[in-house]
Amino acid sequence: PQTDPQAGAAVKAADRAHVFHSWSAQELIDPLPVAGAEGSYFWDYDGNRYLDFTSGLVFTNIGYQHPKVVAAIQEQAATLTTFAPAFAVEARSEAARLIAQRTPGDLDKIFFTNGGADAVEHAVRMARIHTGRPKVLSAYRSYHGGTQQAVNITGDPRRWPSDSGAAGVVHFWAPFLYRSRFYAETEQQECERALEHLETTIAFEGPGTIAAIILETIPGTAGIMVPPRGYLAGVRDLCDKYGIVFVLDEVMAGFGRTGEWFAADLFEVTPDLMTFAKGVNSGYVPLGGVAISGKIAETFGKRAYPGGLTYSGHPLACAAAVATLQVMAEEGVVANAAVVGAQVIEPGLRDLAERHPSVGDVRGVGMFWALELVKNRETREPLVPYNAAGEANAPMAAFGAAAKANGLWPFINMNRTHVVPPCNITEAEAKEGLAALDAALSVADEYTA
Ligand code: PLP
Repeated sequence: PQTDPQAGAAVKAADRAHVFHSWSAQELIDPLPVAGAEGSYFWDYDGNRYLDFTSGLVFTNIGYQHPKVVAAIQEQAATLTTFAPAFAVEARSEAARLIAQRTPGDLDKIFFTNGGADAVEHAVRMARIHTGRPKVLSAYRSYHGGTQQAVNITGDPRRWPSDSGAAGVVHFWAPFLYRSRFYAETEQQECERALEHLETTIAFEGPGTIAAIILETIPGTAGIMVPPRGYLAGVRDLCDKYGIVFVLDEVMAGFGRTGEWFAADLFEVTPDLMTFAKGVNSGYVPLGGVAISGKIAETFGKRAYPGGLTYSGHPLACAAAVATLQVMAEEGVVANAAVVGAQVIEPGLRDLAERHPSVGDVRGVGMFWALELVKNRETREPLVPYNAAGEANAPMAAFGAAAKANGLWPFINMNRTHVVPPCNITEAEAKEGLAALDAALSVADEYTA
């Protein structure tokens, strides 16, 4: 990459003067000016290049600037940049057809949104109207988006400042053996006890008051906790037993991330509604949506669905989705995530865990991995406290700085680093990233006891 520190300084100055950033204390952040990106890498104006182990915010599933998708966006812009949602438009029709072809079971109708949070909002609205019931059950250790209903469904500290206390949401514990709430010692016990806990929660809340259970198929930002075999099938059974709509949120886990088209395919479950965004077009143009089962689509057959968006199925975003889905199929991107995940990333991370005392747990699948960093492997005490900030977060900050100094941009959330590179990452790139992680973990090790 060419260097141009002056241009970088101008970009940063205007940002600092005028851009109000997500989830941040505006005076305490220091955003890196980005000059460009390609494939699995991006670079700044000072000549530093980074291997992106974050895929942006886990959305560039085919990497940056894929030439075929860029060309498709250019072509759509030249042909029909935009059109109102009430019309049938080629890019929108084709995107819906291709998505419906990949989604499990009879999830064959697609309602397009601008992103993940509004997909969750609409899924919940559909479930409430379909059942005529008010409440939603969701898991602690989850993230479902930043809008009011979605953030109230979220089960992590991002909810707290916006908790309305009256959003009709009840949280429960999903399985997570490493930090079990159920005193379980095996995955099977964890699965059985988590299902028992969920059924008890349903019984005490009143089954007739519950519209939906929403779960990330594999929770993402909250820690990539792959559920034990049988859990999601068990939740499916409970939903059927009590007439509850089962919503799977695949905003992060969908479109190749797990080495399957959808994480639901890994567990052979079909929800009633499935939310998606991010990887649907690698985030090149904002797009999300809800895939809807026949039964729920029928509810809105003769009765109007009371919801919509100006940009529902925006042609530019849909053209990017069509091209992305074609590229993923032609270039074997989903299989690549499975193979490089199983043959390079997983053994590489397990090897790091053996050599670094700061690594307490390694979990994941495909291109969707978390390392849980701990002070002490025996006690499993996190390297930094839950929701730590400032000085208390220094060990994770030092780990992050060391990764960047070694040319790796890491995903960090609380005491975890996630390994979530593009799904089309090469073996050589994956190995390069693992070597940088190795160096950064030596810094984290200094904080163990
Ligand atoms: N659901 C899940 C599982 C997510 O990971 C996210 C974003 O990270 C969202 C919903 C919200 O998506 P968006 O930021 O596009 O609104």
